[in-house]
Amino acid sequence: MKRIKSFDKNSKILYLIATPIGNLGEFSSRAIEVINGMDLIAAEDTRNTLDLLRKFNISKPTISLREHNEIEASHKLIEEINKGKKVAYMSDAGYPGISDPGYLLCKLCVENDIAVSVVSGGCAFINALTSSSIDTTHFYFHGFLSSKPVEAKNELEELKGKKETLIFYESPHRIEQTLKLLLEILGDRFISLQRELTKINEEKLYGKISEVLSVDMSSLKGEMVIIVSGNDSKEEFSDTEIVEKVNFFINKGMSKKDAIETVSEVFKIRKNHIKEIIKLKI
Ligand code: SAM
Repeated sequence: MKRIKSFDKNSKILYLIATPIGNLGEFSSRAIEVINGMDLIAAEDTRNTLDLLRKFNISKPTISLREHNEIEASHKLIEEINKGKKVAYMSDAGYPGISDPGYLLCKLCVENDIAVSVVSGGCAFINALTSSSIDTTHFYFHGFLSSKPVEAKNELEELKGKKETLIFYESPHRIEQTLKLLLEILGDRFISLQRELTKINEEKLYGKISEVLSVDMSSLKGEMVIIVSGNDSKEEFSDTEIVEKVNFFINKGMSKKDAIETVSEVFKIRKNHIKEIIKLKI
């Protein structure tokens, strides 16, 4: 158990600074103040960060911390903080640690009794979820699906039963493939596809996956977030209940095949799932 105060006089501290996801006006005065007080800025892409800092007339030494050197760079930053240096970490856009490096650094800080304080800012999925018109009470953030189709399919199979709103990050070159996969595995759910958030070309599509798939895919450019409504089937049924339902329709004179199809349609249960259960139980 640890209890770490962020702003005690002798506290060692790492700042994680959220950067704008598009509109530079969202870089807060607190972010600027904190960065101005730092000795060293660690950045996912030092070139992008230097460009950003230049726009706010800030000049600071930078060091790279990205996916490929995350372990070594995180340890190096812990050393620097322990030596007394004031250090902040910024990823390219949005919050560090959210589909970006930062988690490992935070973990090492806590292990080393270093406070971690976050300077708030833009986060693409929070922005998209808030304006999705889909239930925001409970949600599940998945980030990027695997780039390997079989793995992406397995990930979606696992998410399929979740009642929570689902959140995915996506890039324009994969959007069509991903929407088709969502349709195949999750069914034709209501989604909100949001792109270029906070930028001049910000656009939000609302509708069934099949409807969104009917738009010209080449018009869906830029960075995007997909918010998917959760599984709203009213009940989850036990194997015994599923068998009972199939038997009910068989007893009404339906063939086994038709009974399975009817149960699948009426109760929104996957046909293959019913078949597997029937194979085991009948
Ligand atoms: N750390 C970031 C955050 O807090 O949102 C996410 C970084 S992740 C590497 C980049 C992905 O975030 C993009 O592929 C896209 O899915 C989403 N994203 C970032 N900026 C966005 C924007 N302005 N509009 C829509 N999606 C955005």
